[in-house]
Amino acid sequence: MKQQQATNIIAAAVLLSLNTFATAGESSKENLAKITNNSPLKVTTSNTKNTLSLGNPFEQFQLSQGNLSATTTAAFPQPKAFVNSQLMWDTRSIPVCYLPGTNLSFADHTTIKTAAEKWETATKMDPTSTSNSLLKFTGWGICATANPFGIKIVIDNTVPNSGVGTESNGSNPINVINGFNASMHLNVFTTNPAPTGFDPCRTGTEANRANCIDHIVVHEFGHALGFIHEIVSPLTPQPCWDQFGFTLTNPPDNPWMGDLTLTNQWDADSVMTAYAAMACNPTPNNSKGILSRLDKLAVKTWYGNIPSYTTWNNTAVIPSVDINGQKYAVNLTYQGMVGQTQIFNVASVTATAANSSASEAIFTNTNNVLHIPLLRYQDQANKPNFVTDLYDVYLAYNTATARFSMTSANLVR
Ligand SMILES: [Zn+2]
Repeated sequence: MKQQQATNIIAAAVLLSLNTFATAGESSKENLAKITNNSPLKVTTSNTKNTLSLGNPFEQFQLSQGNLSATTTAAFPQPKAFVNSQLMWDTRSIPVCYLPGTNLSFADHTTIKTAAEKWETATKMDPTSTSNSLLKFTGWGICATANPFGIKIVIDNTVPNSGVGTESNGSNPINVINGFNASMHLNVFTTNPAPTGFDPCRTGTEANRANCIDHIVVHEFGHALGFIHEIVSPLTPQPCWDQFGFTLTNPPDNPWMGDLTLTNQWDADSVMTAYAAMACNPTPNNSKGILSRLDKLAVKTWYGNIPSYTTWNNTAVIPSVDINGQKYAVNLTYQGMVGQTQIFNVASVTATAANSSASEAIFTNTNNVLHIPLLRYQDQANKPNFVTDLYDVYLAYNTATARFSMTSANLVR
């Protein structure tokens, strides 16, 4: 019964919003004029589409609450690290193979595969579940062709390294070995001593060797997913750079600069930190193979199919809303402010399969509240540099107007 009511409410919302859509544009323009003339709220135009944009409702909300964080408008002095947005995979199923001639014990293969799967697990809606991983590394056999789509591992005694994201596809392979493209070098340290100048994983116990392989594989698969060394980020505290003589004009790892940061927060615990002995974190997770909280948020943000909002189309795309156990995919379009309230119309509602999102939204129809615990907010069109923020958002559904209004939007850090 409740489920039927919920379905009816959403269905009614669609009908009503479609009926009122023609007039919505008019009222938005009115409100926009008010905003422009009488308030400090930021109104921006989209350069990419040459259409009037209502701007960023999440920043506006914070302004209206009087607690705008300096970090939401901070300008950065250079492109930012952490992610190379041009090299992120647009699939969540990424094949992995070993180059022909790979001589690897089953135990070492299992260590490698298990380490890579830590990234998969982080994209699950329920990390304890044995299924529903959204990101999948598939295959794990011997490469059948010279340059198959996906990650191509060669095991050799070199310093481990990997192409960044879709670089793995061979347009810019790390190198060609016996006619086959390799995108990732891993070292299982069967030689003793280990290659000159590199951490001697081979010394010590067999357990130490396995741990060493584990943390290196976690790090290299981070690169293969498009993540950049955290220390490249200009968000890195200066003392961490001072130790190595790095400055903004002399950054570390220059060729691998990313262009997108997540949450404007530097992560000393990331498995993607490099320079293990850095002053800011002498024992980073980089040497433990443990994904940090922000590492997990990052892979969930990029590969977890979470709800998203982009300023260039003013649309919140929510892959999965739970309404009394039924799942729906819902799109909401931002209509601007009415009074002090950010208003969203329901643009579409489609029944969908269970667990299609790593961060599911929940609509509670006893109080008509929609909670989106993890919303990826991206503004590339209106900012001088690219930033992706995560918000925890609550929206109230007004049955009379068939619209949602935003009641809170808190940055997730
Ligand atoms: Zn690295």
